[in-house]
Amino acid sequence: MNARWNGQFSCFDLVAKSGHCSRSIVPVGDLEIGGDDFIVMAGPCAVESERQIMETAEAVAAAGARILRGGAYKPRSSPYSFQGMGVAGLKLLRKAREATGLAIVTEVMSEDDVDLIAEYADLMQVGARSMENYALLQALGRCDRPVLLKRGLTATLEELLRSAQVIAMSGNPQIILCERGIRTFETATRNTLDIAAVPVLKTVSRLPVIVDPSHAAGVRSLVPVLARAATVVGADGLIVEVHPSPDQAMSDGDQSLTFEQFSDMMDDLQPYLAIQEDARRLRPELLVARGAD
Ligand code: PEP
Ligand code: MN
Repeated sequence: MNARWNGQFSCFDLVAKSGHCSRSIVPVGDLEIGGDDFIVMAGPCAVESERQIMETAEAVAAAGARILRGGAYKPRSSPYSFQGMGVAGLKLLRKAREATGLAIVTEVMSEDDVDLIAEYADLMQVGARSMENYALLQALGRCDRPVLLKRGLTATLEELLRSAQVIAMSGNPQIILCERGIRTFETATRNTLDIAAVPVLKTVSRLPVIVDPSHAAGVRSLVPVLARAATVVGADGLIVEVHPSPDQAMSDGDQSLTFEQFSDMMDDLQPYLAIQEDARRLRPELLVARGAD
C-alpha cells in the first residue's frame, strides 16, 4: 500500500483494511452491501405524503432499487425550509416497506432520536452535516442497526474514516461509507463529486462505499452520468433521489429524477455494471490503487 496512505489510515484499525480483514459485508435487512450485488437505494429527499412515498416506492422497486430512501427528519440549510414529517414520516416509510418489501434508509440527526428511528429503519443515515457529531456517532455505535455514513461537505477521507472509527469503537462495525460530493470552488455543480474517493477508500478501508450522485450534481441531468462513473470505479451501490413530480418537491427537486428517468438510468447502467462485475471477478486490482496490497 502507498506508504503515505498507510500511515494516514492504518490508525483507524476497526475500519482500515488489514491482513486479516480486507472486506466487510454489511447486512441491511435481507440484503448485503459490499458483497457481490450492486445495491441501489432510491426515493425522495423527504417523505411528504402517503401518496408520494407509496407511489415512489412502487416505481423505484419496479425499476430495480432494493432500498427506499426518504427523510423524515431533514437537516436544511435554511431554518425556514420544510424540516420533515417526523414520526408520521417514519410510519409512512414502514407502510411502504410492507407494501413493496424494500428496506428503508432514513436520516437520524440527533442522538435522542436513535432508538425511535431504529424501530423503523433498516439502515440509519448520518447526513453530511452530522458526520462529526460524535455524540450521534457514539449513540449509533450502541445501536444494532447498520449505519450509512455520508462524507461531510468539507471533510477529508481521513476525517470520514475517523468518524467511522468512532462508530466502530462504540460497538457497531456495520458501516457503509458514502461519497456525496464535497465543497470546492466549482459552482457549476452543487458539490464536486470526488470520484477518486471510491478507489482510495476501497484501497485503504474494509468498508463498503456507495455514491450519491444527486447531492453531488444538484441538477438531475447530471445524475445518470455520475452514476455510471461511480459504477465503473467500483462503488458498491448508489443512493439516488427520485420524486413523482420533482418540480413540486418540498426539497431537492432540481436534482430529483422522475420515475421514467430513474428507470432509464437503471437500464443504462447495465453495461457499466457488467464492467464492474468482470473487474471484481477477474481483475479486482483494477478497482483499487495500483501497487496496493
Ligand atoms: C439527503 O440525503 O437528503 C441529504 C440531506 O444528504 P446530505 O447529508 O449528503 O446533504
Ligand atoms: Mn436531499
